Amino acid sequence: MTVQERTRADELQAAAGAAAAPPSVPVAEAGPPVMETGGVLTIDLAAIVANWTDLARRVAPADCAAVVKADAYGCGLVEVAGALARAGCRTFFVAHLTEARTLRRAVPEAVIYVLNGIPPAGSAAFADARVRPVIGSMPELVEWDAFCRVNAWRGGAALHVDTGMNRLGLSLEEAAALAVRVDTPDHGIALVMSHLACAEQTAHPLNDRQIQAFREVRMLFRGIDASLANSSGIFLGPSTHCEMVRPGAALYGINPTPGAPNPMRPVVRLEARVVQVRKVRRGETVGYGASWTAPRESRIAVAAVGYGDGFLRAAAAVGQDKPVAVVVGKRCPIVGRISMDLLAIDVTALPEVSPRRGDWVTLLGEEFGVDAAAPFGSQISYEVLTSLGRRYHRSWRS
Ligand SMILES: *Cc1c(COP(=O)(O)O)cnc(C)c1O
Repeated sequence: MTVQERTRADELQAAAGAAAAPPSVPVAEAGPPVMETGGVLTIDLAAIVANWTDLARRVAPADCAAVVKADAYGCGLVEVAGALARAGCRTFFVAHLTEARTLRRAVPEAVIYVLNGIPPAGSAAFADARVRPVIGSMPELVEWDAFCRVNAWRGGAALHVDTGMNRLGLSLEEAAALAVRVDTPDHGIALVMSHLACAEQTAHPLNDRQIQAFREVRMLFRGIDASLANSSGIFLGPSTHCEMVRPGAALYGINPTPGAPNPMRPVVRLEARVVQVRKVRRGETVGYGASWTAPRESRIAVAAVGYGDGFLRAAAAVGQDKPVAVVVGKRCPIVGRISMDLLAIDVTALPEVSPRRGDWVTLLGEEFGVDAAAPFGSQISYEVLTSLGRRYHRSWRS
C-alpha cells in the first residue's frame, strides 16, 4: 500500500466509524407539513453514507464516485451530495447542467461530471459552472476543443467510449484515432469511461465483451484515469474497477446483485396516512374499474397516496408478487386500482381496532425494500425511487 492509499483507507475507516453512530437525527425537512400531506418520505442519509463507504472499501485503491442524477434518484441532490462529500466523496456525476449547477452550490470543491454531455453552443456554460462534460460524440468533442483553445480553458472533460451499449460514446475506431492526443501536453482528457449494459446479470456474455473492449481503450489512453463500473459492475469483480467506479442505485439501497441477498442498507421509507377504514360486503368491488371483488366481508383502509405521488402500479408491486402495505407490522394486500391520490388496503386480517383514521401505513421500508421482487434485470426499483413525487413531506435523517 502506498502512503496515499493508506491515507485513503484511514479516511474511509473514519467515515465508517462516523456512520455507525446512533442513527435517525432529523437534519432537514422539505415539502408540505406532515399535517397537510398524505405521505411522508424519510431518507436515511447515514445509510447512504454507509453504502458509499462500503462500496469505496470494496474497490480501494480505486476511487468511488457517486452518481446523483435525477435528484439523487429521488433522494434529494443537495442533502445526499452534502452528506457524501463530508464522508470523503470527491467526484459526482449528474445528467444535466442544471443538476450540476445545483450540485456545485452544495459541494463547492468537488469534481462534477455531466453524463449527457454538452448541448450545441453549451461549452461556455460548463466552464462557467466549473463542471466537466462527459463527451460522447465527435461533434461535441470538436466544439469543446474549439472552446478550450480559444478560451485557454483547462477544466478538463471525460471521454465516453462505447463498448457495446450503443447509447452514448465514441466508437472504438474514433477513440483509437484520438489516442495520439495523450502525448500532447494539455490534452484535456481527465477521464476515459464506458458503461456496462447488463452488469446486474452476472452471466451475460456482453459483460466480458465490454470488459475486454474497455481494456483495449485503457491501453490506448495510458496514463489517464479510467472508469467502467456502475453499482452492479462493481460486483462483477476487480476487472471493472479501474481507477474509479460510478455507483448510483446501490447508494440508495437498490440491490446491485439481484437474485442474491442485498448487501446494501435500506435508505427510503414511505408512509401514507389512513383517511378512513370502511366495511365492504362480500361480492362488492373496490375502486375504479371495479377490478377487485371482496371474497368475504372485508375491512378496507383507504390511504392518502396514489399515482399522483409517483406511487405507480409498478411501484406497488415491489416486495412481493402482489402489492402490499405494512400496517401495524403486518403485510396487507393493496387491492383494486391505485387512484391519483388514494389507494385501498385490505386489512381484514388485522384486529378490528387497527388501523384507525390518522394512522400511518408503510408503503416502502426496511421490512419491505424498493426492489425485493423486481423481476431479474428489470429497472423497476430505479423507477420506484425516481418517481417518488413532490407532494410528500420529506425528512432527511443522519
Ligand atoms: C446512471 C449511470 C450510472 C449509475 O448506474 P447505477 O446502476 O445506478 O449504479 C453510472 N454510469 C452512467 C454512465 C450512468 O448513466
